[in-house]
Amino acid sequence: MLSTVPAAASVLLARTPARAAAQPGPTAGWLAPFQTDVQRLIDASVGSTAAWDRLAELCDTFGGRLTGSRNLELASDWAADTMRKDGLEQVRLQKTLGPRWVRGAESLEIVTPVPSPLVMLGLGGSIATPEAGVTAPLVVVRSFDELNTRSSEIPGTIVLFDVPYTGYGPTVAYRANGAINAARHGAVAVLVRSVGPMGLRTPHTGGMSYLQGTPRIPAAAIPIEDAQRLARLVARRVPVTLRLRMSAQTLPDVESANVIGEIVGREHPEEIVLVGGHFDSWDPAGGASDDGVGCIVTWEAARLMKVLGLRPRRTVRVVLFTNEENGLRGALAYRDAYIESASKHVLALESDIGVFEPMRLGFSGNDRARQMMAEAVDLLRPLGFPPLGPGGGGADIGPIAQVGQVPAMALAGDPTKYFQIHHSPADTVERIDPKEMAKAAAGIAVVSWIAAEMDTPLPR
Ligand SMILES: [Zn+2]
Repeated sequence: MLSTVPAAASVLLARTPARAAAQPGPTAGWLAPFQTDVQRLIDASVGSTAAWDRLAELCDTFGGRLTGSRNLELASDWAADTMRKDGLEQVRLQKTLGPRWVRGAESLEIVTPVPSPLVMLGLGGSIATPEAGVTAPLVVVRSFDELNTRSSEIPGTIVLFDVPYTGYGPTVAYRANGAINAARHGAVAVLVRSVGPMGLRTPHTGGMSYLQGTPRIPAAAIPIEDAQRLARLVARRVPVTLRLRMSAQTLPDVESANVIGEIVGREHPEEIVLVGGHFDSWDPAGGASDDGVGCIVTWEAARLMKVLGLRPRRTVRVVLFTNEENGLRGALAYRDAYIESASKHVLALESDIGVFEPMRLGFSGNDRARQMMAEAVDLLRPLGFPPLGPGGGGADIGPIAQVGQVPAMALAGDPTKYFQIHHSPADTVERIDPKEMAKAAAGIAVVSWIAAEMDTPLPR
């Protein structure tokens, strides 16, 4: 996920009330012709572990997939080959340049009062420390305001932003801009309390920023537990000195790629239903929930159509975007390459907020289109999907959707479970439930099938 939450997603992130599988109301008349194929798509997905097995293969084989890494490059080739084996058509790697940040070796330790190692993860984009590391006294603050108020204490120190998690949007500002603010006051390095709810001493990495004209200082995240330990020491007026060692580098841009595969439409191949997620991930684990699962459930939606021999009127296009985490180069490259056909995109759906129950589908578009999509989502009530919510869209489909005024959807899971492992070593396939993945794939298959098969495109 980006450093700021796209408006659409924040609406969708609002806590989703758990809901028993409600009996669907009467099916809207225009949907009657779809019911048989809708049920076939649901039956083909629910009960299958195909999606989970594929996610496990992705994460086990390629691990973390940072943009510019060999891991992502090989995973992209694997995805293209596997799409071809699934029978998807026009499979291609849409090349684009991407940043290459490399983590290298890193560590953090308490030097005084008593030497003791701490858990840390360097933030994406951070510079390295000198080889011997940075050793300096610690100052703990809980906000940018407190930092500014205590400006005279900051020169030559390591600043820790010990900011409690109050939701991703407000809290991530410290990860993104902590180094800029601390450097302005003369700090030599910055630490941030991991952005997420309490975990099990898991550090959460993620992108950070520098500002032209402000000194660049090394930046890292530490688990909530380590931040609170340091804050307690300081609160007891114990002087604390830390040593941070980082050897991160930003190397020249390298070639990366969006992985694209399609089911070409039988009547209107030029009209596109776009589904996807981002294939890059941070490196501490395999990026199972961010965003391997989003890539696999959207891809699975198309695979299910192939398995059932369904070829819709319009083209269903699966895009596994590169570089969502630190630059959006994949999303921008897709927009730039398909700008001519932006208005021919009849629906764009992204999954990049996890696949955890309770999950929900959100939509952004005009009222008529919303009504129709709400009726389509009502067909998913037996699976336990709640009524269609607000907030379609996402970081990767955002650029093309904006240019083409494309009706947009998003699948979002329970944000607490998502942010508990987000960008951390705990983001592994063990956190993902095969049944929930099958349900998500079924939901996406149904709404994208209907949007690709309906007589006329969704109104916009
Ligand atoms: Zn993500």
